[in-house]
Amino acid sequence: MKESASSSPRTGSAAEVTLPDNPAVLNVDEHAPTPLSPGRTGFPKQSGQSLSYWLQQVRSDPLLDHRTTKQLPKETDTVIIGSGISGTLIAKHHLETWPEKSVLVLEAREFCSGATGRNAGHCKPDQWRHFAKFEKAYGQKQAIKIMNNEAATWRALVAYVKENHVDCDLWVGDTYDVPLDDDVAKVAKECFERYRDLGGRVEHIKVTHDPAEAVRISRIKKAKACYAWHASTLQPWKLTAHIMRENLKNGIHLQTYTLAKNVAEDSLGRRKWVVNTERGDIACDTVVYATNAYSAALERSLKGVITPKPHMCNKVVPPRALSGSKALQNSYGVLLPDGGLFSINPRCTADGVVMVGGSNPGQKQVDKWVEQHPEHCIDDGLARVDTVTECVREFVESNLEGWKEAELGPGEGFDYSWSGIIGLSADGVPFVGELPGKPGQWICAGHHGHGMARIFTAAPGLVKVMNGESWAATGLPDVYEMTPERLQRLQSATEGAPKVAIV
Ligand SMILES: Cc1cc2nc3c(=O)[nH]c(=O)nc-3n(C[C@H](O)[C@H](O)[C@H](O)COP(=O)(O)OP(=O)(O)OC[C@H]3O[C@@H](n4cnc5c(N)ncnc54)[C@H](O)[C@@H]3O)c2cc1C
Repeated sequence: MKESASSSPRTGSAAEVTLPDNPAVLNVDEHAPTPLSPGRTGFPKQSGQSLSYWLQQVRSDPLLDHRTTKQLPKETDTVIIGSGISGTLIAKHHLETWPEKSVLVLEAREFCSGATGRNAGHCKPDQWRHFAKFEKAYGQKQAIKIMNNEAATWRALVAYVKENHVDCDLWVGDTYDVPLDDDVAKVAKECFERYRDLGGRVEHIKVTHDPAEAVRISRIKKAKACYAWHASTLQPWKLTAHIMRENLKNGIHLQTYTLAKNVAEDSLGRRKWVVNTERGDIACDTVVYATNAYSAALERSLKGVITPKPHMCNKVVPPRALSGSKALQNSYGVLLPDGGLFSINPRCTADGVVMVGGSNPGQKQVDKWVEQHPEHCIDDGLARVDTVTECVREFVESNLEGWKEAELGPGEGFDYSWSGIIGLSADGVPFVGELPGKPGQWICAGHHGHGMARIFTAAPGLVKVMNGESWAATGLPDVYEMTPERLQRLQSATEGAPKVAIV
């Protein structure tokens, strides 16, 4: 029988589940500390966005401002709002499921200019690190399901890219998780061993607890241990653009620079719903919110449930001492003593540029600033934020051999950084399913800064439930399902009721 989020006391019930109490590695999130002002929200920023490295690379691509027709259609079967990897994949699977139905994808700005077009380009399935947190919040079975789902998502993404020969700089290789002091190493070891002992799959993870060996493998000077398994880096805009181009060939309709402002019942009785945009109204039977961080601006029941947060990514051109045969050959999650993390993603099969992000100490300062200035919660116009770049500089200089001594010439080093907007989920996991009380309105959002390891299975899963299939048929963890009980629980939690699982 399905373990539903509402029936089990270990699946996020307010009475049983509280915040994890260990401040070290179990709390390490790539990008997602809990916001203090969870009610904040906003529509996508309409001007002054900074350009990510990915968006800088495609300025002459006509997909950026594509409009399938000059005029906005007045009617369609389905409107998908958002052209990131979620909306684009949902459109693909919608088309495969109902080739006869018409689908219109709306995008507020350039094609794929939200988090997908601005992230750190890492598809890293969590294979043990958050197990203890998820176990505490949702129970052992769900926590193992989440780990397995992330592995399945990564495999699905890699298979799609390879089978379709997608030009998106895909790299497949070992990613390293590297604890940086003894305490973090101890907690990491306990978490890993607990996962293994409870039946989690770990055969594919190579582990060393010998610090000298960990330093040799990882090239991180202060490494205390090293966990290695397969993950990928890629150019996320190019992957999404490839899928959208296929969609367009197969009849999907795309309208960029069209902000959806409201969704209401169709008072004229043509269809069930009307999506109101600044360019006119579209009547339709089905609406899909692939709006991630911005979802609550459009659907007010999600206020406090999905919260936007700006996150920085640094583009770093490695010095000569770390170039050529000495270039980094792996991606990293470096686990810091304060519960933070540096995510390091070199573009090993492309230009060797290294993306550095994660919930590092500099990012935490940005988070504090956003708490004080909530009007910046959807600000993807930030660039070259010194507090973050300085932390990155300090980290690479003290941890990577040859960096500190390197005399950086023009064009090398800490070249650029930009912000993107993450959609924090109030209980740490995405929302997939029908919006409670709104038949025919669906959502796939709230990916909590980790969507590249979730959406390749979440999007087809959503289309399955839209097609009347059971939740079990999606293969997704039960706790990802949008249910009335889950929504209500999270709404009351943000209104001051006892804490629910924040993982
Ligand atoms: C700096 C940064 C680094 C990250 N690094 C990683 C990483 O390395 N690995 C990882 O797994 N994840 C990472 N993430 C998270 C990941 O990028 C997201 O989880 C994922 O891209 C979400 O995809 P999406 O399609 O759901 O949302 P988005 O890509 O944000 O797409 C939503 C789209 O909807 C549009 N939209 C919203 N509201 C409206 C409206 N009302 N009308 C019309 N259009 C609308 C937006 O403009 C946007 O284009 C990172 C995110 C950031 C910001």
